[in-house]
Amino acid sequence: MERTFIAIKPDGVQRGLISEIVSRFERKGYKLVAIKLIVPSKEFAQKHYHDLKERPFFNGLCDFLSSGPVLAMVWEGEGVIKYGRKLIGATDPQKSEPGTIRGDFAVVVGRNIIHGSDGPETAKDEIALWFEPKELV
Ligand code: ATP
Ligand code: MG
Repeated sequence: MERTFIAIKPDGVQRGLISEIVSRFERKGYKLVAIKLIVPSKEFAQKHYHDLKERPFFNGLCDFLSSGPVLAMVWEGEGVIKYGRKLIGATDPQKSEPGTIRGDFAVVVGRNIIHGSDGPETAKDEIALWFEPKELV
């Protein structure tokens, strides 16, 4: 069954949005197969966002991701990679629709509270980066 990597970034955890976000994925019908709270090192954040290393915001983005607890999760279900990103909403919260997580809870792109894998390959790589196989139930 299809799986994706979802992370509530430090701003989402700090603002108390864990239960709200987990609940949206649960109520849709997806299955939680792994979850842990972790403070990633900056090196780890750089690995996670390696595709963006040429972008001007890369350094700030990695500093931010490693600035506090992140709730790392794996969710499973039919179409969860693409639909999970629909639940999350557009990258820039100014453009994400009301009803999406970023649309409802975020204002600026650098503090958009949640990450979701953008395709099957990145989902596989990100799950392997954040979790040991034995942590997946
Ligand atoms: P994510 O990978 O976090 O789920 P995304 O796939 O919607 O987000 P990406 O293009 O992968 O978007 O960008 C990764 C993250 O980098 C964004 O979530 C955002 O926090 C940050 N980011 C993207 N564009 C900008 C920007 N122009 N300025 C500042 N930060 C940005
Ligand atoms: Mg992305």
